Amino acid sequence: MTYRATWMADQGMDNRHQASMAKLYGANMANRVVDRVLQIHAGMGYTKDLPIERWYREMRLFRIFDGTDEIQPHIIART
Ligand SMILES: Cc1cc2nc3c(=O)[nH]c(=O)nc-3n(C[C@H](O)[C@H](O)[C@H](O)COP(=O)(O)OP(=O)(O)OC[C@H]3O[C@@H](n4cnc5c(N)ncnc54)[C@H](O)[C@@H]3O)c2cc1C
Repeated sequence: MTYRATWMADQGMDNRHQASMAKLYGANMANRVVDRVLQIHAGMGYTKDLPIERWYREMRLFRIFDGTDEIQPHIIART
């Protein structure tokens, strides 16, 4: 999805629909993955001894900036 959206941008095409889908799906998948990683490492994953808790916080932001999870479906539906 990301490659398609970026390829369309390279071609000068309107990629708002594809970019929005890639952003929504990618942000949610990244959050699922980092949540799983933290769960696997459990208590250690939650501490600052490992970088996982930072990834967890940073990935969470992807569901907020550049269009929240709630706003992206509006863009996808509109386009
Ligand atoms: C660390 C950080 C860095 C940032 N960097 C930038 C930056 O570089 N450039 C920039 O421009 N902005 C930046 N932002 C701002 C970011 O884009 C906004 O936080 C984001 O757009 C959400 O706006 P808001 O926080 O005002 O939430 P609000 O708009 O108040 O939304 C609150 C909640 O209501 C939901 N909501 C709002 N409207 C609707 C609707 N119509 N239908 C359904 N649900 C709705 C939202 O999805 C959200 O869950 C940054 C934010 C953070 C936290």
